[in-house]
Amino acid sequence: MNERLPAPGGLALVEALVNTVDLESGRDALDTAEGRAPFGVAERDLADVRELRESLRATCLAHAGHPPHRTVTPLGELLARVPLYVSVDARDGSARLVPAGPGTLAARVAAAVAEALTAGTWQRLKACELPECHWAYYDRSPAGRGRWCSMSVCGARVKMRRYRGKRA
Ligand SMILES: [Zn+2]
Repeated sequence: MNERLPAPGGLALVEALVNTVDLESGRDALDTAEGRAPFGVAERDLADVRELRESLRATCLAHAGHPPHRTVTPLGELLARVPLYVSVDARDGSARLVPAGPGTLAARVAAAVAEALTAGTWQRLKACELPECHWAYYDRSPAGRGRWCSMSVCGARVKMRRYRGKRA
């Protein structure tokens, strides 16, 4: 949530996409033109974008050791449709994977995942374990074992439930 810094590099795009919907209220930023603008998606692409979003959320949950929140198309299947190629900068020899076709959102996500793999940050993009939240966040904890998007909000809710459960 707000207390966290955005995920590093291209992962910020992935994190922002996953967090376009509030699962508890059902409010979806992609329903509005302003909400879609940062992702460069048109209304006709919404079904595909939402499919990608939930596949990403399931992957973020997997990074935290949780099963998928619902049946999703495997992320690998979606990203396999957007080939990347190795681009080498002639000036300094640096290389990176870039989309081979049009820079669709799926292609940008694939490039962001490739960048995160080399940076070693991919596994730290997680989803909050609270079912009504499942918000994506970047786990900056030293051991990489964070469980909630916000300790003070979702962590507190889980602890409160456990406390109530014990007294019942
Ligand atoms: Zn949460």
